[in-house]
Amino acid sequence: MYDGAIQDLIDELGHLPGVGPKSAQRIAFHVLAADPSDIARLADALRTVKDKVRFCATCGNVAESDQCRICADPRRSDDVICVVEEPKDVMAVERTREYRGRYHVLGGAIDPMNGVGPDDLRIRELLTRLGDGKIEEIIIATDPNIEGEATATYLARMLSPMGLTVSRLASGLPVGGDLEYADEVTLGRAFEGRRKVS
Ligand code: ZN
Repeated sequence: MYDGAIQDLIDELGHLPGVGPKSAQRIAFHVLAADPSDIARLADALRTVKDKVRFCATCGNVAESDQCRICADPRRSDDVICVVEEPKDVMAVERTREYRGRYHVLGGAIDPMNGVGPDDLRIRELLTRLGDGKIEEIIIATDPNIEGEATATYLARMLSPMGLTVSRLASGLPVGGDLEYADEVTLGRAFEGRRKVS
């Protein structure tokens, strides 16, 4: 344990995802030794992201206004929605350059062990978007792990009676993994080879 401010910083850093006690200590001492202007920029970036960035009212992606960049883009096709768990997955799919439709971010996956059920996800918002009848296909691109599969199964069952094409990304993605860690080529192929589930 250190005294005062440095320990406070280590504790705060330690709450961040993927930062263990050793990394927290390393980052704290890096901050201590760094140029004050570099740290001022970091502090500014942290403050600005909390002030300016919110979630898109339509799809749940990160946005700097009411609509995100993708929802606001008139060149994207309106007849297909790709359903993902988190905003970082939108970025992963965008990197493949295979997809020109819209997105819907669920805000997680069904995970009964951790008390996350369908009502905790943005599924109601998805159904609202389907109400206008423009959507023809839903591509379910949840993570290739147990929670992602459970979510995909739930969505497929719910959406199939609605007369839409519902497809799931092809296998070939690393099982148990996170969509964002798939490389562009693998994810792009999984997209092209998506299979109809209803
Ligand atoms: Zn959006």
